[in-house]
Amino acid sequence: MGRYSKKRTQMINNHLIARGITDKRVLKTMGTVPRHLFVDEGLQDQAYSDNPLPIGSRQTISQPYIVALMTEALQLKGTEKVMEIGTGCGYQTAILAELAETVFSIERIASLAFRAQRALDSLHYYNILIRVGDGTYGWSEESPFDAIITTAGAPTIPETLKKQLAVGGKLVIPVGNRSSQTLLRVTRLSEEPNDIKIEDLCGCRFVDLIGEHGWKD
Ligand code: SAM
Repeated sequence: MGRYSKKRTQMINNHLIARGITDKRVLKTMGTVPRHLFVDEGLQDQAYSDNPLPIGSRQTISQPYIVALMTEALQLKGTEKVMEIGTGCGYQTAILAELAETVFSIERIASLAFRAQRALDSLHYYNILIRVGDGTYGWSEESPFDAIITTAGAPTIPETLKKQLAVGGKLVIPVGNRSSQTLLRVTRLSEEPNDIKIEDLCGCRFVDLIGEHGWKD
């Protein structure tokens, strides 16, 4: 067993299963995607510990437990069209691409988007489209989405994202103030975008979702 695959197995057992992640598809995928290839060489040894890590431009890759929790909350079966807001280094994007049909991912910082694209290309992901821009507008031409994941913290649930969610679709998003948020799962119940069910998943701390329907920089 290679050095990193042993570390991945330890991550699955110690940080995911031990903390209550049960979705077998999520566990299997996070046990195979090479997280170390999404971070700088000097940080690769820390890629499987349960911490966020810096990815440049004052942004972070989320800790593995949070990636697993958010992904599990989307309840993906493999046929979904997913939108991700906050591509970052592309690790979460890769996990989504393994578990859904197509992933549309938006990143506001161009240098991060290009680096993520390179990493994902080198791993041969062909069901991902990345665009640079303000993800708080969503991606209306491609909507509705069966699942939406926002990997940065918002002051409120953006109306734009509720509107782009399919009926029955799920949006997972951290909402709160700039120093702490609650991770929410929002399920759209009918054609009326405000007919939603909101569930609190846990307390969390994310970087800011900066944009027209998020925090103003
Ligand atoms: N999931 C990512 C990963 O695996 O690396 C981590 C993402 S990081 C916690 C949050 C990302 O959201 C940052 O890269 C940040 O630039 C991006 N972001 C913040 N506001 C945004 C917006 N309005 N549109 C798109 N991306 C945004």
